[in-house]
Amino acid sequence: MTNDARLTVAGIRADLAAKKISARELVTEYRSRIDRENPGLNAYLALSPERAFAQADRIDRMVERGAELPPLAGLPLAVKDVIATRGIPTTCGSRILEGYRPPYDATAVERLEQAGAMVLGKTNCDEFAMGSSNENSAYGPVRNPVAPDRVPGGSSGGSAAAVAAGLAVAALGTDTGGSVRQPGAFCGIPALMPTYGRVSRYGLVAFASSLDRIGPMTNTVADAAALLGVIAGHDPHDATSAAVPVHDYTAEIEKRVAGLRIGVPREYFGEGMDAEVRAKVEAGIALLERLGCRRVEVEMPHTDYAIATYYVIATAEASSNLARYDGVRYGVRAPADSLAAMYRKTRGTGFGAEVKRRIMLGTYALSTGYYEAYYLKAQKVRTLIARDFQQAFEKADLLVTPTSPTPAFRLGERTTDPLAMYLADIYTVTGSLAGVPGISVPCGRTAEGLPVGLQIFGPHFREDLVLRLAHAFERAGGSQV
Ligand code: GLN
Repeated sequence: MTNDARLTVAGIRADLAAKKISARELVTEYRSRIDRENPGLNAYLALSPERAFAQADRIDRMVERGAELPPLAGLPLAVKDVIATRGIPTTCGSRILEGYRPPYDATAVERLEQAGAMVLGKTNCDEFAMGSSNENSAYGPVRNPVAPDRVPGGSSGGSAAAVAAGLAVAALGTDTGGSVRQPGAFCGIPALMPTYGRVSRYGLVAFASSLDRIGPMTNTVADAAALLGVIAGHDPHDATSAAVPVHDYTAEIEKRVAGLRIGVPREYFGEGMDAEVRAKVEAGIALLERLGCRRVEVEMPHTDYAIATYYVIATAEASSNLARYDGVRYGVRAPADSLAAMYRKTRGTGFGAEVKRRIMLGTYALSTGYYEAYYLKAQKVRTLIARDFQQAFEKADLLVTPTSPTPAFRLGERTTDPLAMYLADIYTVTGSLAGVPGISVPCGRTAEGLPVGLQIFGPHFREDLVLRLAHAFERAGGSQV
């Protein structure tokens, strides 16, 4: 079921220009693949054929005119359902937003379309992006295209599965504590979390505003570079988007990696890691050394506190952000006799169990008497974790770690144990708290054929370096180490 043809951004653009294929044919082809495969995978929640065909016709007319094609011309794109798309249902994987159609597009979507991408539809995810397996979606779990009895990872599970199964050539995911990188690792595709502030969050439905980021999930690292180049940059609609200049990532990835110092943090190779994951990541690091990178050992002493810190901060921000779903302005309303009863009933029936758990945890952590002990303390530890990264980047240009302690687990295996599910984020939440960019890139497979991900972290706004190393690794055969 996996995608062997592996179309790429550059390949599609060249084929369109050479008239080997039309954009309309591409949409038709992906539509029929989706019709065939999606009932089994459940990767897409909504399709947007009118919008995709209208865009395809625009591209085909440009080809006819002999106009220069935009960088992502004819790219079949999937968009995670927490990202607003004008007129197309945007549910966040939740009952409470069933049928909601936003009146505007997220900046990232608008920029991708301006660059020629064709939005095929919206992809399944954990409810409000809370989860690591996609099993918290109100619309059912997604299956991993590599191993259908396993989870695709989460929360951007539908985006990862769509790309890995060849039901899109690229997808947007979102990452708050690992939700782009971990499903990328589980489904065997590159997946990039840009620096906090690198990509506008305008139109991204907020989960934890100080952590949320939009990132590309693609077949190749070069494609991730191409998408980032389009979506990165300041946006007047998002005050937290940075005015830092955007690199030419497509050019940067071709630069040499020999001589780069690769930091290997001891704390990421402790107990709890699957033996096969460890072996593959070690083999991946050895491959980087053969490419001329220099391995240096680094210490990141506050790593152990990252899960607790993340789950205090993320739930606190979520409890505040999700207060807006009250049956008045958005989505579903459960009728009742009084306003208070309407709120209770709407939220009681609209939210799933995990979202309720997070709202309660976050409300607790923010309440009088507990605020100092939990939220304020977590903010202080967050600073220490960010400092660990700063110090590590004095000794190393980039850091290399596993993305996840295990490969994709079985559907249902962890649904009754929220703590086990939270612990799966152990290697990803650190970079989320520190605000640095990180990518997961395929790094071999287990004996059973399950993909393993190598995670590369870089300093703030150094996606150019992160992508360069990931590209060299991929080209040297990293997916087969
Ligand atoms: N798995 C983490 C959580 O459940 C991260 C989710 C995310 O990055 N959106 O919060």
